[in-house]
Amino acid sequence: MGYVDKVLEGLKTKNAHEPEFLQAASEVLESLRVVIESDRKYEDVGLLERIIEPERVFIFRVPWLDDSGRVQVNRGFRVQFNSAIGPYKGGLRFHPSVNLSIIKFLGFEQIFKNSLTGQPIGGGKGGSDFDPKGKSDFEVMKFCQSFMTELGKYIGADTDVPAGDIGVGGREIGFLYGQYKRNTGLYEGVLTGKGLTFGGSLARTEATGYGLVYCAEEYLKSIGDSYKGKKVSVSGSGNVAIFATEKVHQLGGKVVTMTDSNGYVYDEAGIDLDLIKEIKLVKRGRLTDYAAARKASKYVEVGKGKVWDVAVDIALPCATQNELDLADAKELVKNGVKVVGEGANMPSTQEAADYFIEKKIAFLPGKASNAGGVATSALEMSQNSMRTSWTFDEVDRKLNTIMVNIFHSIDNAAKEYGMAGNYVAGANIAGFKKVADAMMAQGIV
Ligand code: NDP
Repeated sequence: MGYVDKVLEGLKTKNAHEPEFLQAASEVLESLRVVIESDRKYEDVGLLERIIEPERVFIFRVPWLDDSGRVQVNRGFRVQFNSAIGPYKGGLRFHPSVNLSIIKFLGFEQIFKNSLTGQPIGGGKGGSDFDPKGKSDFEVMKFCQSFMTELGKYIGADTDVPAGDIGVGGREIGFLYGQYKRNTGLYEGVLTGKGLTFGGSLARTEATGYGLVYCAEEYLKSIGDSYKGKKVSVSGSGNVAIFATEKVHQLGGKVVTMTDSNGYVYDEAGIDLDLIKEIKLVKRGRLTDYAAARKASKYVEVGKGKVWDVAVDIALPCATQNELDLADAKELVKNGVKVVGEGANMPSTQEAADYFIEKKIAFLPGKASNAGGVATSALEMSQNSMRTSWTFDEVDRKLNTIMVNIFHSIDNAAKEYGMAGNYVAGANIAGFKKVADAMMAQGIV
C-alpha cells in the first residue's frame, strides 16, 4: 500500500466520527498523491501524519445569563492546526451546527488557504454552537464576554489571531476585543475584522467577497473574457455574498439570486444592493423582507426549489459547506454555467466538485478563491504592528494583487503536475508545498 493510502486509512480510523473533517482531509490527500508519491522525503519525516493532526485543540464551557436571568451553556472550540509558516490564523464561527468536525475541517483548509495568500500566517479555526439569531445585543455581548474569558488564555497577537466567520461580524468582534483588552490589559492586534476606530483595516469587511470576484475575474481574463453582461447566481446573503454581489455589479455583471436558510430570491433586474444591505446588515432581517419590498422578485422557499436551478453563466456559492451537491452541479452544467467560484468554505460536495472538473467547468475552490478575507486580515495585522492604517484603495489594490497571484499560482501548479485546469489540485499542491517545506526545515515537531 502506498504512503497516501496508508495515511488515508489511519485518518478514517482515527476520525470516523468527523465526516466534514474526513471529507476535507481526504480531498486534499487525494490531490497531493502526485506530489507525495514522486518523492520519498515526505514519507521519511511522517509529514502527512503530522499535517493532518492539529497541533492543539481547546474545547471549553461557555456559561452566560440570558435576558430573563436563566443560565445558558454553550460549547466553545479553538483548533490550532498548524503554525509552520506563522501564527495560527482563522475565523470564529457561531452557529448551532458547530462541532469539532466542522472546526477541524475549517482549520485544516485554512492551513493551505493561508499559505496560498503568500502572507506569514498559520492555520486555525474556532467557534461555538451559540446561535446569535434571535438574541438581543446584550445576550450576544454576555456570550462573547464569557467566550473570550476562556479563549483569551490561548490567543495573542503573535501566537493566534482569530477573526469572524458565520455568525461573527463586526458587532461580535467588538465585544470579543473589549473583553480581551479588559482581561489582559493589552491593546494589541489579537483579532482581525475590528472596527475602524480600534485598529480595523479598511476593506476587510469587503475583502472575501471582493477577493472571490477578483479571482474569478483573473480566470476570465486568462480566456479573454470579463464579467460584462454575465448573469451570476450567489447563495447566502451574509458578508461574503453581499460584497461579492457588489463587486460583480461594479465589474458589469448582474447577480440575480441570494439565499438564506429559509429560501432564495430571484431578481431578474439584478439584486438591489442598497435594499439587501439595509435588510441584512442593519435590520438583521430575512429574504422574505426583500421579496416583500421588491414586488418584481420571486421568492422560493426551501424544499420548493434550489437556487442552483437558475440558469446562469457564473455561480458563486457563498453560504455554507455542502450546499451544492451533485444534482445541483448537473443542473448548473445543463443550464450552461461556465465558472463556479466558491465564496464559502467547501460549499460543493466532493461529487459536485469532481463533476465540474470532469465537465471542464472553471471550478475555483474556496481555499483559493475566498482567501481574500484572511489575506486582508494579515494586512490588518501588519498595519496593527506598524501602528498605521492604509487607505481603502491601498488595501483593495493589495487584495487584488494577492488574488491575481493566487489564481496564477494554482493555475501554474496544476499545469506543472499535468492537470491543467484542475484548480482543486492546483490549490492543494501550491498551498501544501510551502507549508511542507517549512515543516521539514523545522524538524520533527
Ligand atoms: P454570514 O453569517 O455573514 O452569512 C452566512 C449566510 O449563509 C447567511 O445568509 C446564512 O443564512 C447562510 N447560511 C449559513 N448557514 C447556513 C445553512 N446551514 N444553510 C443555509 N444557509 C446558511 O457568514 P459569511 O458570509 O461570513 O460566511 C459565509 C461563508 O463564507 C462560510 O462558509 C464562511 O466560512 C466563508 N468564509 C467567510 C469569510 C469571511 O471573511 N467572512 C472568509 C472566508 C470564508 P441565515 O441568515 O438564514 O443563517
